[in-house]
Amino acid sequence: MRIPQRTHLCGDLRRSDHGQSAVLHGWVETTRDHGGIIFLMLRDRAGKIQVVVNPETSEEMAQTAKKIGHEWVITVTGTVALRDEQHINPELNTGDIEIVAETVEILNESKPLPFLIPEPESASEEVRLKYRYLDLRTRKLQQNLAIRNRAYQCVRSALVDHGFYEIETPFLMKSTPEGARDFLVPSRLHKGRFYALPQSPQTYKQLLMISGFDRYFQIVKCFRDEDLRADRQPEFTQIDLEMSFVNEEEVMEIAEVLTVVLYSNLVEVALERPFRKLTYQEAICRYGMDKPDLRFEMPIYTVTDILGDSEFRVFQSVYKRGGVIGALCLPDADLSRKDIDRLTEEVKPVRAQGVAFMKAASDGVEGGISKFFAEQEIADLLREIQPEPGDLLLFIADQPEIAYPALGKLREYLGQTQGLIDNNAVVPVWVVNFPMFEFNDEENRWEAMHHPFTAPLPKDLPNLSDNTAEVRARAYDLVINGQEVAGGSIRNYQLATQERIFDLLGIGRKERMEKFGFLLEALEYGAPPHGGIAFGFDRIVALLSGTESIRNVIAFPKTTSALSLMDGAPSEVDAGQLRELGLQIVQNSSGSD
Ligand code: ASP
Repeated sequence: MRIPQRTHLCGDLRRSDHGQSAVLHGWVETTRDHGGIIFLMLRDRAGKIQVVVNPETSEEMAQTAKKIGHEWVITVTGTVALRDEQHINPELNTGDIEIVAETVEILNESKPLPFLIPEPESASEEVRLKYRYLDLRTRKLQQNLAIRNRAYQCVRSALVDHGFYEIETPFLMKSTPEGARDFLVPSRLHKGRFYALPQSPQTYKQLLMISGFDRYFQIVKCFRDEDLRADRQPEFTQIDLEMSFVNEEEVMEIAEVLTVVLYSNLVEVALERPFRKLTYQEAICRYGMDKPDLRFEMPIYTVTDILGDSEFRVFQSVYKRGGVIGALCLPDADLSRKDIDRLTEEVKPVRAQGVAFMKAASDGVEGGISKFFAEQEIADLLREIQPEPGDLLLFIADQPEIAYPALGKLREYLGQTQGLIDNNAVVPVWVVNFPMFEFNDEENRWEAMHHPFTAPLPKDLPNLSDNTAEVRARAYDLVINGQEVAGGSIRNYQLATQERIFDLLGIGRKERMEKFGFLLEALEYGAPPHGGIAFGFDRIVALLSGTESIRNVIAFPKTTSALSLMDGAPSEVDAGQLRELGLQIVQNSSGSD
């Protein structure tokens, strides 16, 4: 049949349209027969509107309407009418109007559904992922993808306004592992050889700077074959950008501008610039992690010098072994003994032994471990922390690499459970000067904390070989409400520095030429100083949509075990396909590699 031309989207109609004729297409969400008069809730991308089918207008039309089931696709022509006062539905944008139908035509039927669109919670997540195209009809996912759509447009226009070129880079590239495992694609034409799917366009964007494009961006898929982790996707989207002739400040400024534009255009939140900055060291010592949630303050106080030499054995022995004593001050706390014991459970997974406490009182401290300390020690402690009477002081003492993360975890847990977080707040913070390297104990070698193309701080260059752990990187992460939304760095644009980094990482001459030879060679042909950043696009859209999981902002996501429940990927392929690629499957009895 010929589809009549639509005049409006269902959800766009308003009171001011009353009296107008309308041709609407959509899905019937619910039907109701009210003494022969049939009410259909018609839905399209913009929302839903009630359609009234009166047999007095046409008996035949009413008979058609009676047959309609959930999610049938129909076309309606009719007139926009005001609803009676008592029938107004304040929950709907179109709740004070309805369509008085003149014709109703069925365009397509639907089988009984695995779940009803207005009640997706009635189905398990597996069922919803299998029928993702139905789940995508739900209001929440429609809204999330609408925000995502606006985010793409916003990013493009903001970056183009700032002189960026959008340039695509290949998906079939050379395997140049950046940290995670590559997804490999076998070549049919060159048997035994493989392309890799990019973990990010890192090397390409650097090459584009060497080519003179000055400012590049791309909204791009990245692929990482990582082990299962909650809220990770094997393919995800980045807003990737790179700039020539810049320092950290210019890259961070653009990233701030982009963040401000996204928040103001999409959710009408005005973020103040410049964003707060913390060094990595400050972030760890003050908040116990490199992605602190600063919607609440509650910092960690390092009180090793005050309480380390006290009578309290536990603190004393940690102090003697070069450990630290850190404290948190939970305002006006009303925690039972059981609640406090529960805190120890929280920090056990990060290897901390326990949480000690005392309570601030009007004349000092009381309870918990307070009795172990001398007057002077308590006086110094109170001067440092300045608690109010009724505040709870919590302590963890251990080696720094255990104590700070444990305090960070405790801080996060208390923030979430003690109502310290204003859920409407949006608090961005930069974390800068990350360590350049971290030691991989298992493999007994240094690894780049960001990636090997990151430049070290010039003043730390002399430490490169002798004091490797102390070398800081010109790297920066943007954290919003405790989530890392972007990360980037200034790069090594001079071959000599890049070579030194590879030396340190134990990437020998042969290996580096094999893997990165093209980039190293390019650095010798007039590479400009350059740097960039990449935003996790899914993550920022999730934040903007007010949803926890990035799965809720990706049209067709995979499960945490990297499966697509809808189409069954990954799937076996037939022997002919394998033969063409020159591949053979070796069954491993243990099922692992
Ligand atoms: N390529 C980096 C990443 O994906 C980002 C960057 O350094 O620009 O993490």
